[in-house]
Amino acid sequence: MSSSSLTTNMTDPSSSSSSGPRWKNILVIGASVAGHSVVNGLAQHLPSGYRVLLIERNAFVHHNPCVVRSLVRPGWDMTNFTAPVRQDTIFPAGSRHRVLAPNRVVKLRRTSVWLEQPFEGVDEVDFEMCILATGAQSPAPIRPIPGCSLDEWRTALRRVQDDIAAAQSILIVGGGSVGIEVAGEINDAYPTKRVTIVHWDVGLLHPSDSGGNTAHTYVAPRTPNKLRKDLESQLRARGIKLQLKDGVDFDAAKGSGQWGGMPGPLGGMRTIPLVSGGRIDADYVFNSTGNRPNSDLVRAADPGSLTTNGYVSVDSFFRVRTRTPNSPLVGNYYAIGDVCNSPSWKTAEAAITEGDALARIITTRLRGMSAQPYSPPGRLLESTVLLGSGGGASIKRFPIIGYVRSEGSVREKSHDFHAGKNFFSRFRGQRRFVSTSSWSLAM
Ligand SMILES: Cc1cc2nc3c(=O)[nH]c(=O)nc-3n(C[C@H](O)[C@H](O)[C@H](O)COP(=O)(O)OP(=O)(O)OC[C@H]3O[C@@H](n4cnc5c(N)ncnc54)[C@H](O)[C@@H]3O)c2cc1C
Repeated sequence: MSSSSLTTNMTDPSSSSSSGPRWKNILVIGASVAGHSVVNGLAQHLPSGYRVLLIERNAFVHHNPCVVRSLVRPGWDMTNFTAPVRQDTIFPAGSRHRVLAPNRVVKLRRTSVWLEQPFEGVDEVDFEMCILATGAQSPAPIRPIPGCSLDEWRTALRRVQDDIAAAQSILIVGGGSVGIEVAGEINDAYPTKRVTIVHWDVGLLHPSDSGGNTAHTYVAPRTPNKLRKDLESQLRARGIKLQLKDGVDFDAAKGSGQWGGMPGPLGGMRTIPLVSGGRIDADYVFNSTGNRPNSDLVRAADPGSLTTNGYVSVDSFFRVRTRTPNSPLVGNYYAIGDVCNSPSWKTAEAAITEGDALARIITTRLRGMSAQPYSPPGRLLESTVLLGSGGGASIKRFPIIGYVRSEGSVREKSHDFHAGKNFFSRFRGQRRFVSTSSWSLAM
């Protein structure tokens, strides 16, 4: 049984109750940056017969950029940078749009999805359009494991704080922005601890050209050299060792009498084998690799819609590409943010831009006009990577001049990790957030 019908002869359902069979549903799966941004862009501008259903598997969402500090700094509580996903935090009073959380989409069908928990008495919801904003999963506890409570996540983060406090020599596997920021946080809190970053590329972040993004494989664009060189020299000046063009030899690590290859505390100083043949002594390994797009729903419905590395393949209108006309994903599925292969960096800033752009595409089409395809900036416009509370590097791109260092952007991000601008301001519900140092909910 389904909660809405696809009839085209509708009376205006906004004048009747919010439940009932006549709404044309626009489903958004995932209430983090990408999903919430598209919801905000749609909520005020949809024709009256349409409503948004925002579905989130956790009872809360969080602001990812702050996690690096809460992994390291004793007592720093990530849960100050979370918000409940509820009707009254997302939508104003009287809104026809609905929040379904905690709830999880478990199956995608051509014009409906299956839910883990019933909504309006049914566990299959029909839709006119379905937007996948299911993001990515990082090694726990960098992002909360699906379905975990805030308390469970807080406990897991505190355990990492304690383990890092107890360690003497820390190996960070992966020199992307999260690995770099965690190294900076450790050095800030514990300047005498030994920290090494092992990274596969010729420099930190992603300076090499890996062949470009295609419909079949997502590749992150290159990072400007100015940014990574600035970070490398600051890290080296702080005594952090950079082991570039190298990786941990996990096969050797699993050999008998070896460390075993599991990240976390090693129970004493161990020798970590590297692919280059080198070795590093460490008693804690922080794994900052292995971000994986949350695309299992698409894999189950139509694996042909995924790139070779698991991203949902989309066109320039964010419409999911399918290989065959019989695919259940043909026509009305869209994807934005970290889960899809849109040709930009997988950042909160990009997810916001994509959410806004898709909302414009959809509302333009619903007005019967033709929408412009999304055209991402060809180059990174701005990027800031912090090294604890007192350092970091930032670049901004200007026409003709190119990239310029921006100390102001480092200070701005240091203030609150952009939580005010990019996280708390998204919540437009009846209950608003107030900007206090502890970021609490205004009653
Ligand atoms: C530690 C860390 C630090 C970062 N720092 C920065 C930074 O400083 N600046 C920056 O711009 N970017 C940063 N990023 C990247 C940025 O956070 C991501 O690009 C952004 O969160 C992507 O947003 P998203 O909405 O696409 O996905 P996500 O944030 O991953 O959210 C996906 C949501 O979908 C939900 N979901 C998944 N599957 C289902 C399902 N089946 N049913 C219902 N709900 C589901 C999840 O619970 C989650 O809430 C950082 C990332 C990490 C991990």
